[in-house]
Amino acid sequence: MSLNPKSRRGFAHHLALTCKHCGEVQASTMTSKKLTGDKHYEVNRKVVLSFLEVGLGYSGVNTFCVVIGMAGVTASTHAVHATAIHNWKQIRKPQLMDEAERKIRSVHNCPSGVLDLAVSFDGSWQKRGHTSKHGLYCCYRSHNGSGDRLSCYGNLL
Ligand SMILES: [Zn+2]
Repeated sequence: MSLNPKSRRGFAHHLALTCKHCGEVQASTMTSKKLTGDKHYEVNRKVVLSFLEVGLGYSGVNTFCVVIGMAGVTASTHAVHATAIHNWKQIRKPQLMDEAERKIRSVHNCPSGVLDLAVSFDGSWQKRGHTSKHGLYCCYRSHNGSGDRLSCYGNLL
């Protein structure tokens, strides 16, 4: 018996257990399961999410793959996963903001009312002239007294 990589879908590989004598495939499997209700593989979603979380996109994934000598995902596959992740975050945004507020209120022992926080805020726009509807902002709050740090990044759309 031999275990051969037959094909792949991004980081998900198809493995086949083949009889060396007659060539019959005894068993085969993919190295990653598909996402629930989706034709895409979980490992590819996780890789794209991981790189997006550290600020790297498609070229970051491919540079990583080239350096370690493995095949990556296509640009179209990356775009499908990045879009799905973006849409999921848009749906979860109110819940994420609530969780962030609860955490900040817990750190400052202020369960309700106005919180008096010192923050640093800055942003940039896609184009000059105050006509752009796209931009980025960053609001950063560091609370080093108890050793923790809170930060928030996002985009205005
Ligand atoms: Zn055989």
